[in-house]
Amino acid sequence: MKFPLVFLWALTVASAYAAASDPSLAPGVPEVLARERGGAILSLRYDVSFRIPDKRAEAIRSSEIVRFVLRAPHRVVLDFAQPRDRVAGVWVGDKPVEADFAGDHLIIPASATMAGENAVRIEFLAGEDSLNRNDDFLYTLFVPARARFAWPCFDQPDLKARYTLTLDVPSSWQVVANSAELERTVSGETMRVRFAETPPIPTYLFAFAAGKFGVETGERNGRTFRMFHRETDTQKVARNRDAIFDLHARALAWLEEYTGIPYPWGKFDFVLIPSFQFGGMEHPGAIFYDAPALLLDESATQNQLLKRATTISHETSHMWFGDLVTMRWFNDVWMKEVMAEFMAAKIVNPSFPDINHDLRFLLSYYPSAYRVDRTAGANPIRQRLANLDEAGRLYGAIIYDKAPVVVRQLEMILGEQRFRDGMRDYLKRYSFANATWLDLVRLLGARTPENLAVWSHAWVDLRGRPELTTRLHFGPDDKISSFRLTQRDPLRRGVLWPQRLHVTVGYEDRAESLPVSVHGAVTNVSAARSKKRPLYVLPNGDGLGYGIFVLDDDTRRYLAAHIEDIPDALSRGSAWVDLWENVLDAPRTGSEFLNLAARALPKERDEQNTQLILSYVPRAFWLLLPPKDRIARAPALEATLREGIAQARTASQRSAWFNTFRDVVLTADGLSWRERVWRRHQKIDGLTIAQTSEITMAL
Ligand SMILES: [Zn+2]
Repeated sequence: MKFPLVFLWALTVASAYAAASDPSLAPGVPEVLARERGGAILSLRYDVSFRIPDKRAEAIRSSEIVRFVLRAPHRVVLDFAQPRDRVAGVWVGDKPVEADFAGDHLIIPASATMAGENAVRIEFLAGEDSLNRNDDFLYTLFVPARARFAWPCFDQPDLKARYTLTLDVPSSWQVVANSAELERTVSGETMRVRFAETPPIPTYLFAFAAGKFGVETGERNGRTFRMFHRETDTQKVARNRDAIFDLHARALAWLEEYTGIPYPWGKFDFVLIPSFQFGGMEHPGAIFYDAPALLLDESATQNQLLKRATTISHETSHMWFGDLVTMRWFNDVWMKEVMAEFMAAKIVNPSFPDINHDLRFLLSYYPSAYRVDRTAGANPIRQRLANLDEAGRLYGAIIYDKAPVVVRQLEMILGEQRFRDGMRDYLKRYSFANATWLDLVRLLGARTPENLAVWSHAWVDLRGRPELTTRLHFGPDDKISSFRLTQRDPLRRGVLWPQRLHVTVGYEDRAESLPVSVHGAVTNVSAARSKKRPLYVLPNGDGLGYGIFVLDDDTRRYLAAHIEDIPDALSRGSAWVDLWENVLDAPRTGSEFLNLAARALPKERDEQNTQLILSYVPRAFWLLLPPKDRIARAPALEATLREGIAQARTASQRSAWFNTFRDVVLTADGLSWRERVWRRHQKIDGLTIAQTSEITMAL
């Protein structure tokens, strides 16, 4: 999820201004304000009503009654990021109240409130920034704290509330919200729909869509699913609908079984929105999707089918992970994302047996996580977040790519069964409430002898990665007498990272994978003792561990001549990832790396590995070679790549080869060939050039 930069700029200016007075009333949603409200406001309910006119230019007149319990009179600060003249009136009970406005807040003085139940009624014009209003439809998107742009509310994830929603819309429209429709009355051109009260949900998950939508209905396992869409190609809808219902039903059944908790939200609808901001958004009972992610063309590839299944399973997983149990504050937003993706992989991967999922995991997450984590500017997974306005800053490779690796480690530490039982316990204990990462760590910690607090501190609270080195000694019989794995903190803080990994010792005809549990500074790999002297050692053979794995000289020499001989594709992929990290630590070896890539590429049998190696080539070429070496090397490298384009077996492979060629080409001959391809004077069979590639070449 990405947020426009202008918000961050506006925040900086405005914060500086408000901080001078009361920091809890600074614009955005300051953490101090959230804490104050979290402690004071109980039993929260919203009764919200929006009157949506047919004409987009007309304002949305709205009203709400906010009900809550206070232990004692207390000021009530609502978030509403709109000019004050959009608020027509505020009442507490039936008394009109002079509300104050500061920052993005509407403030009701403590003197107007009382101990016990309070009902605040507000008449206002809804803000439209987060209502995505079009001529004949609109939809809400309130994540992470954008409900306050539309209506006055407590816009923080731990003030869960029950919502009763009423919508007035043109009578030809369809409507969908978190809960089931309770009643509808039509008078003339207008229809009023009242929805049932929701279970407790946070503002960022409250949602509705209204407008001209087609509706498809599917029955699966005794449940009715509804799909709202705006697709005019009826063939396309007909072709995809059953698969989409099946995928939801399968994910739902799997999750009910895994969590031991029945689907918590009653009805199940989803809305396909053209050009939706994300792939999907997990509103309980009403998931929103980007339409093209679900409505596929006939020519959809295996990869697109896998992606669709994953998106659906990811959003469905959120019905438990994120919706039923929600993070207390957005600094833990990564948790729900990683858990949803983790569950999605469990649900979907077995249906795609032709894909090497472990290799896919390695190549999807490790290189991009390392790219950030090796730098001085790396951030930890868990960061402080002083204001929800800054939530956009949290997203990046560490959350998206390092966190999945860390959660997979967590499952390895506990074992699948205990991990699942721990998750069941967690979901049950915090149902319809909130929990932090540390709550989960405590709960899982009770199920393992391992000190999870220490583990979590190293992996989640701190930035960076360990450096791991192997030391082998041999006896007089040339067998391994000791094998030590040493770890060190490259940032010199003395951090030790506990982790599970597999060390691979390789021979001419076979490789052995030895499970190792890394704890202190030095780990003895006792399973390696008495084994014959290996030709090579991969300290992270199966790609489970995380860090910079220093390869010993013998191994580097072996890989330089034989990397393609490593029989297992996953180990080979992991060797390439480690090799690249080693090369970056010793850039003068860039030339050696390119020799190896040029030799091994034509022999690589796994498509995922081919793409990985091809992605390293331009970086090695431009970043690690002196200019004169580049010129000397260019003709041979270009010839290898053009041969690769010609020999590629699939369209995706062909474009991977072509993109690498496009990015390294240097010779006059190569440049003119690339230009002919770009101008379509030269056609390459089976190569489609993406628009972004088109632009790259034009530049
Ligand atoms: Zn998600």
